[in-house]
Amino acid sequence: MKVYVTRKIPEAGIKKLEEKGYEVDINPKDKVLSKKELVSALGAKSYDAVLCLLTDTIDDEVFKAAPKAKIFANYAVGFNNIDVKAAEENGKLVSNTPGVLTETVAEYAFTLILSIAHRVAEADKFTKAGKYDGWSPTLLLGTDVFGKTLGIVGLGRIGSRVAFHAHKGFGMKVLYYDVNRNMDFEKEFGAEYRDSVDDVMKEADFVSIHVPLLDSTKHLINKERLEMMKECAYLINTSRGPVVDEKALVEHLKEKKIKGAALDVFEEEPKLAKGLAKLDNVIIAPHIASGTEETRSKMSEMAADNIIAALEGQTPPNLVKF
Ligand code: NAD
Repeated sequence: MKVYVTRKIPEAGIKKLEEKGYEVDINPKDKVLSKKELVSALGAKSYDAVLCLLTDTIDDEVFKAAPKAKIFANYAVGFNNIDVKAAEENGKLVSNTPGVLTETVAEYAFTLILSIAHRVAEADKFTKAGKYDGWSPTLLLGTDVFGKTLGIVGLGRIGSRVAFHAHKGFGMKVLYYDVNRNMDFEKEFGAEYRDSVDDVMKEADFVSIHVPLLDSTKHLINKERLEMMKECAYLINTSRGPVVDEKALVEHLKEKKIKGAALDVFEEEPKLAKGLAKLDNVIIAPHIASGTEETRSKMSEMAADNIIAALEGQTPPNLVKF
């Protein structure tokens, strides 16, 4: 069996595939392959499986370049980079890596909440620039998180763990909007459901986004909804960039219509919207919310397990259902 891996990933999963006796080819350059390069790499051999990343656009052309491949195992929980309709038409299985990164991403989202509220990135920049000339009662004043209201948009695996930290650790009131209401969660965490995103935007002090990128969630947070936020509120996005209208957000932050934002994901990664990087009231991170050694290694094993199951004629444990 031959497996193509579109970019270097932690060893654990590669080892699993090799232990099965599979021939594993990894893109030798530690960078994203262009569509042309990917198609050409897949055409070089008759691959039985492909391990791909969220930065690869996997569409009809790519599926056709690997006619024998049974499965495209995505190294991510989100799979908006894969055209699932084309996968179905080409008879390909698709898998993802849900659950294994939930705690890490939730921790990171909460890190962003605390960091933007307490101006951690600004303080670091300020101090390293040699500007600290002694304690001051008014220097870089932040905002308390304890006891404030957190609005979750998308109360799935990750969103519900962010809500857990907020409620249990920081005494926060939790509001949420999701297409599915979760009464058990409401009871356990005293969380309150809102039947529109608008109400969450209006009431929350911190809005944290955790929906998948779908046609229905593209620009879910648009100019009109940003206008609904309180002036003292913050927006946190660790889901996918296109869920937020980034240009509108930059304008909003420039005009200080909200207090700040913390973003791990962007509309056209790795590009940033014009003016975003110049703002002090935003923290920007290079899409690393799931990036711990432990989690990235477990994701690698999970993607390998999905491939092994498919090649052994079983249903992959994390099969994406179309
Ligand atoms: P999940 O499927 O468990 O949760 C998503 C939730 O969003 C579900 O409860 C779903 O009902 C809800 N939802 C779907 N459409 C909605 C809509 N239109 N309005 C409101 N709610 C809606 O997924 P998860 O594991 O919690 O991951 C969420 C997303 O986070 C992933 O799809 C991925 O894009 C992103 N993610 C980002 C990183 C990162 O590194 N920044 C890492 C992991 C996941």
